Amino acid sequence: MVRIASVEGRAKLIVEDGSAAVDVAGASAGAFGPDPASLYDGWDEFRAWAGDALGEDGAAPFDSEPFDPARAGPPSPAPKQVFAVALNYVDHAAESGLRTPDDPLVFAKYVSAFSGPVTEVVLPEGHVDWECELVAVISRRAHRIDASDGWSHVAGLTVGQDISERVLQRSGPVPQFGLGKSHPGFAPSGPVLVTADEFDDPDDLALGCEVNGQTMQSARTADMIFPVPVLIAYLSRVVTLLPGDVIFTGTPPGVGMGRNPQVFLRPGDHLRSYVEGIGELHQRFVAGR
Ligand code: ZN
Repeated sequence: MVRIASVEGRAKLIVEDGSAAVDVAGASAGAFGPDPASLYDGWDEFRAWAGDALGEDGAAPFDSEPFDPARAGPPSPAPKQVFAVALNYVDHAAESGLRTPDDPLVFAKYVSAFSGPVTEVVLPEGHVDWECELVAVISRRAHRIDASDGWSHVAGLTVGQDISERVLQRSGPVPQFGLGKSHPGFAPSGPVLVTADEFDDPDDLALGCEVNGQTMQSARTADMIFPVPVLIAYLSRVVTLLPGDVIFTGTPPGVGMGRNPQVFLRPGDHLRSYVEGIGELHQRFVAGR
């Protein structure tokens, strides 16, 4: 039962129902951290230390400070690889006018688009849309692993938004997703990374988002066509997954592009995204210059 966050570049254990943060480097006398990215390189050791440090009741016998998500960065701030999955929910494929894929459809988001959970995002030209997603962070090197071992390669789960500019995403003779989904601030995640053992069933979590308080997406990760362990097995058939790698697992129905009439984000809009048991993202959109 471990929750971690990155606060101003330092790894923190999040305690007391999410309200307090313990500095990992301080509490571990320098054994782990302070760089959040470094935790994933020795995840099993860190996880064992954190479990012992927190004890059964999750109370940490260390100095803590209030946890302010607005000061947090992405839980995995420097992944070597960032994967995203298209059309991983049947009803999102339908609203996109596309057939359900036989195998996962994978594209990349670029890490320069990463941000923390509470941000202001400058709107580029085009049609900017929301995609609330469960995000998995990899805990150990993996090549050609079986889906039955998939969860054992996940450090934890967090909330992500795969913010997407649809005009560029769909331009050209063959759609190419990476650039249109990688403007600055288009990949917020956080506020915390939660280890999978914290959930009764990590394959069945409520997720969704609201724009200006109006529900746009509301679904469960159990509706994924390819669940997290299957995605890990599929990716690792080709690439070697590395500690700290990030997987955006796909969005449920309710994106703006799939609505009639279509709805896209405008200056002043507020986007709230959530995954059950993890927390919330808050994005405010402002006009481009
Ligand atoms: Zn997506």
